[in-house]
Amino acid sequence: MKTIALIAHDGKKPEMIEFVKEHQDELKAYRIVATGTTGKRIAETGLEVDCKLSGPKGGDAQIAAMAAEGLLSSILFFRDPLGMHPHEPDIQMLMRICDVHDVALATNPATARLILLGLQQEASI
Ligand code: PGA
Repeated sequence: MKTIALIAHDGKKPEMIEFVKEHQDELKAYRIVATGTTGKRIAETGLEVDCKLSGPKGGDAQIAAMAAEGLLSSILFFRDPLGMHPHEPDIQMLMRICDVHDVALATNPATARLILLGLQQEASI
């Protein structure tokens, strides 16, 4: 089973929950990992989630490590461009690791939708 990582900054958590509800059926086909608080919120929708640490406590770093090890099909990371984040270095590191290892990274719902479509198409070929 392929794995998708979900992360949302506080200002973007409502959009993430909306996205998860909208794509619940597609997402069930994947193992889902998420940063701590995002994961807890997602679990409330009924989707099974492997929760890592909260972002500021190292959750983004844990997900970056999974990306570096080739364990992730994609990362859907709804970033809040208007907020300040104490763990900004971890966020930059996560994005860099995605580029180093060519891991699909969506930073907003529009791109996340396209990635899910792409993964579905890949699976049906
Ligand atoms: P959280 O972390 O899911 O624990 O809120 C997300 C982040 O801020 O990177």
